Amino acid sequence: MIELAAALDTVCRTLAPFPGEHHPLERCLGVTLAGDIISEIDSPPFDKALMDGYAVLATDVATGSATLRVIERITAGQVPTETVTTGTATQIMTGAPLPVGANAVVRIEDTRLEGDLVHIAGKPIVAEANIIRRGTSLKVGETVLSQGDRLTASRIGALAELGQAIVPVRRAPRIAVLATGDELVAIDQTPGPGQIRNTNEAMLCAQIRTCGAEPLPLGIARDNRDDLATKIRYGLQADILVMSGGVSAGKLDLVPSELAAAGVREVFHKVHMKPGKPVWFGQFTEPETARSVAVFGLPGNPVSSMVCFELFVRTAVRRLMGIEPAVPQTLPATVVNPFRHRSDRPTYHPAEITWTATGPCVRLLPWQGSSDLRATVAANGMAVLPAEEQFYQPGDRVDVMSWTWHI
Ligand code: AMP
Ligand code: MG
Repeated sequence: MIELAAALDTVCRTLAPFPGEHHPLERCLGVTLAGDIISEIDSPPFDKALMDGYAVLATDVATGSATLRVIERITAGQVPTETVTTGTATQIMTGAPLPVGANAVVRIEDTRLEGDLVHIAGKPIVAEANIIRRGTSLKVGETVLSQGDRLTASRIGALAELGQAIVPVRRAPRIAVLATGDELVAIDQTPGPGQIRNTNEAMLCAQIRTCGAEPLPLGIARDNRDDLATKIRYGLQADILVMSGGVSAGKLDLVPSELAAAGVREVFHKVHMKPGKPVWFGQFTEPETARSVAVFGLPGNPVSSMVCFELFVRTAVRRLMGIEPAVPQTLPATVVNPFRHRSDRPTYHPAEITWTATGPCVRLLPWQGSSDLRATVAANGMAVLPAEEQFYQPGDRVDVMSWTWHI
């Protein structure tokens, strides 16, 4: 049995980031950059007006009032041809290039046009008022985004401005989900005696989506070698195969041996943690193509599956997508409720984290253990509680991991 930190480190060392691919920008939301993006443009590309009004020499309107002769009218998309000199102004629209000579814009609300004269009556105007200079927000040669950055809507916008129609990215993995167990029935069935619904498939598929990855639900494999072998072989066509159940020490816990029979090399089995101790991790390399597949055997109890996904599978996704750091991050939070904790293993305890004016706070939720998924419906993360007996009091500090900072 290994410690969690060593297990997560092993996941990272076993897996290599996907090679970069080129994708059209409109399909890049949620994927990560495979290379740095360096600007080939200045932004804005020219000195421009930030207001509708008149481009002037600030010294002409230093007092706030003046009468100037309008020499040209330009809208966004047009290019001024006249130079603004003292005593003159160019009527200008937001986004239009600033004419040569002008160094400020008087907003239209402070003006009145009469023939080719504009009467200005407003606040004193200083140089640079209501304009933005070329390259103020971005200059040629600047690194705008770096490899490993995940593409959000604003970053997609920035790439569009930079003309990156085709983007070097690492795609999200395709993740097969295979639940195992003779006792499982589909969620739209009424369980018979001794049966339960296949909770984990829906939950794991949802967790996969929060990673920005694509779930491939494979249904239920029964606890027999033939069914497992067939469905494992199918699951190995994905980038990651996540199985639930069948990794403990029971008579029908056939998953490790069936994975081995399918050619999956065991990397570790069992981690010193609660819940999820029997978790299994291995790697399959397809002989013909050398393509490799990360395989996780998560313990079947729903909270074990969920927590092990957050710790191990999410780390694998981040690693494959080139996101650093790949391992989950913790944050200290202030306990708000008295809570008695007792465990012989480091425990990932369902927790409700809130962000207050004085920093993150955490409520340790009542929880009956790895089968108690009900306890997690109020949780938005987990508290990392050490292997010990501890009576937490409000104001104590514990580390927490959020489930909402995804990915
Ligand atoms: P196992 O890891 O196969 O020994 O299963 C441990 C516990 O988790 C048993 O009580 C199983 O019935 C339950 N379990 C296994 N798979 C699932 C699943 N897909 N959905 C809900 N519970 C499950
Ligand atoms: Mg089972």
